[in-house]
Amino acid sequence: MILKKGLPLPECLKERFPGAEGLVCVAVKLPPKETDQPYKVASSGLAPDYHDVVRDICAGQGEVLCDHSYYGQKEMARRAGLGAVARNGLLWCPELKCFPYLGEIVTDRPAEAVSAGSLFRCPAVPCKNSACASCPALKDGFCRELCISHITQKNGPFSYDEAVRIGYNIYGCDLCQQTCPLCRWEPLRVEMPPLEFWLDISKAGFEENRSRYPFLWIGRNKVRRNALAAAYNLRLDCAEEYLKKAAGDPSAAVSQTASALLEHL
Ligand code: SF4
Ligand code: SF4
Repeated sequence: MILKKGLPLPECLKERFPGAEGLVCVAVKLPPKETDQPYKVASSGLAPDYHDVVRDICAGQGEVLCDHSYYGQKEMARRAGLGAVARNGLLWCPELKCFPYLGEIVTDRPAEAVSAGSLFRCPAVPCKNSACASCPALKDGFCRELCISHITQKNGPFSYDEAVRIGYNIYGCDLCQQTCPLCRWEPLRVEMPPLEFWLDISKAGFEENRSRYPFLWIGRNKVRRNALAAAYNLRLDCAEEYLKKAAGDPSAAVSQTASALLEHL
């Protein structure tokens, strides 16, 4: 499902895109997905890659921007009337009933001005039994350092607290969307290999699987680091053996995370 709404090119972008007249904001709802394993991968980390989807949808219509930090994508989408920013910091789109993926097309055609999305008020703040009510990252506004999604993508080793914080997630976190009553979350189950597959994966095996699992963009060492933490959190029988082996790994992200966890076994 796709929505497109335009707005005149905002003043702040005129210098960067001389001659452009409009900005078309695009919101895409991809079918949510979840793993069939006890460990979790966020829906965005399971195919298809939304960057490719957004670029395909927008191809040939102007300069396509996707997942960038030039300016606030959510704010532009809100101004275009696509939705509103909810308490969890995501853009909620009433027409798609979801928190969509975003992209923009910079165009030399004047885009129609539409009314901006109203400032959003969540119906109950925070909703009971939602991530907004219980997630430490959402306690006093959004705290990136406590967000599981950020932790699973950060560089370097985990502290013990970070390793415990990610729980069973080896990439990202969908709880904000899964638990929001405004969101229709009916995920397709994706067949995935057991966690040991990621703990053991060789460089060659990793490269072979890259196109199949988009979340592998974070790199082999981060995937193995995250899988070690998930094995510990899942209390897998094999966790100790893998942690001891990983403590001698050439990657500091892997070896130091393993050592931090071994101290608490
Ligand atoms: S993505 Fe997960 S950890 Fe991050 S704010 Fe949402 S529920 Fe909390
Ligand atoms: S769970 Fe409730 S508070 Fe959180 S974004 Fe959804 S409606 Fe808003």
